[in-house]
Amino acid sequence: MNILIVAAGSLLAITAAPYVAFLVLFAWVRPSGSPAEKTEVEPSVSIVLPTYNESRIVETKLNDLLALDYPMEKVELVVVDSSTDETRTIIREYCEELDAPDLTLIEEDERRGLAPALNEAYETAEREMVVKTDCDSKLPPNVLREAAANLADPEVDAVTGRNVEVLGGSEVESGYRGIQSHIQQLESHLDSTLIFHGPFSAFKNDALLPIDPNSLADDTELALKIRRQGGRVVFDPAVAYKEASHSEFVKRRTQKDRRAMGLIRLLVQHRDALGKYAKYGRVVLPFNWWFMIASPWLLAVALVVATIGSTVQYGIIGLAFPAAVGLFTYLGQQDVLGPVQALYSLFDTQVSLLRASVELLRGKGDGTWEVDSELREAFK
Ligand code: GDP
Ligand code: MN
Repeated sequence: MNILIVAAGSLLAITAAPYVAFLVLFAWVRPSGSPAEKTEVEPSVSIVLPTYNESRIVETKLNDLLALDYPMEKVELVVVDSSTDETRTIIREYCEELDAPDLTLIEEDERRGLAPALNEAYETAEREMVVKTDCDSKLPPNVLREAAANLADPEVDAVTGRNVEVLGGSEVESGYRGIQSHIQQLESHLDSTLIFHGPFSAFKNDALLPIDPNSLADDTELALKIRRQGGRVVFDPAVAYKEASHSEFVKRRTQKDRRAMGLIRLLVQHRDALGKYAKYGRVVLPFNWWFMIASPWLLAVALVVATIGSTVQYGIIGLAFPAAVGLFTYLGQQDVLGPVQALYSLFDTQVSLLRASVELLRGKGDGTWEVDSELREAFK
């Protein structure tokens, strides 16, 4: 065997080593459910809903919120709208008919981006528990109670949940979510989790603090900052939501690459947190640095070296290796890989993270984006 093939194999082994360690840790800790001391409580709630040109789906979203199993007198709805379509009129007229919840509608004349809009909404939110939800997500009736039960633990300042059903049926996304849910449970049991999800996150009002106006990972940034000020931030699989996603390789890139850019930039901005804040800075953050920043490059280099190595060794037949990677990608995006579909989901995520690193190095990543209309169809 030539030295290039050996080098590629070694690189892959190095890339995989922390994941193997993580699996061992998982088997040892055996995390399940939320680590919070959950208690049934019924705090007052501010639901923060940011909207940008959501006129097609906002009514469905409001129906969904009103169907939550919670006394609506205890709920205030804080909408921050930056739309150029009739979204805000639909919301105002919808809420006029209702005794509860109270509506506060923040109307932006100009779209500045999601993060500044959210900062304003969080500033306005007055109730004890502040819930952030995206317009294109569906929530089960028990979600506020499950979230509140987590926040009843004095140590816990924030909780996020699990994508239980990918609307539109993308198996690439659900494969990834399955793996991510295990990772986030372990992180939460060790200390706190990193990633917070836009479709549903809940915070103690007292713990809120402003986020970077340029943020592309607003929910995660808020959670990270709350952890840094001493609160615990956890993932509870019983807190459920549903969100739409694509499977097709090209369509996935836009949203996933943007989210990946937000996360990488956040990790780099908060690099001084590495090694601090107990297991959060010693285990959780380094693991995410490896997954999001180191692995994608190592994997890319390993694939290139393996391709060169196999063509040097086997001539034209050696091209079977990159062809196999191509076939794997082609079949993966069609959701037909069966038992190895989840492995493809990880590969797909690494592709986004690599592309995101490159884009960030090129100075890209401003705070506004096209809202995906195909995903809105899947939501309806
Ligand atoms: P994705 O799920 O990460 O692709 O993000 P979305 O495009 O679904 O946006 C998440 C939520 O933020 C949705 O409710 C959008 O309507 C809303 N949103 C996106 N951009 C803006 C903005 O510039 N201002 C406001 N107020 N809301 C926004
Ligand atoms: Mn969305």
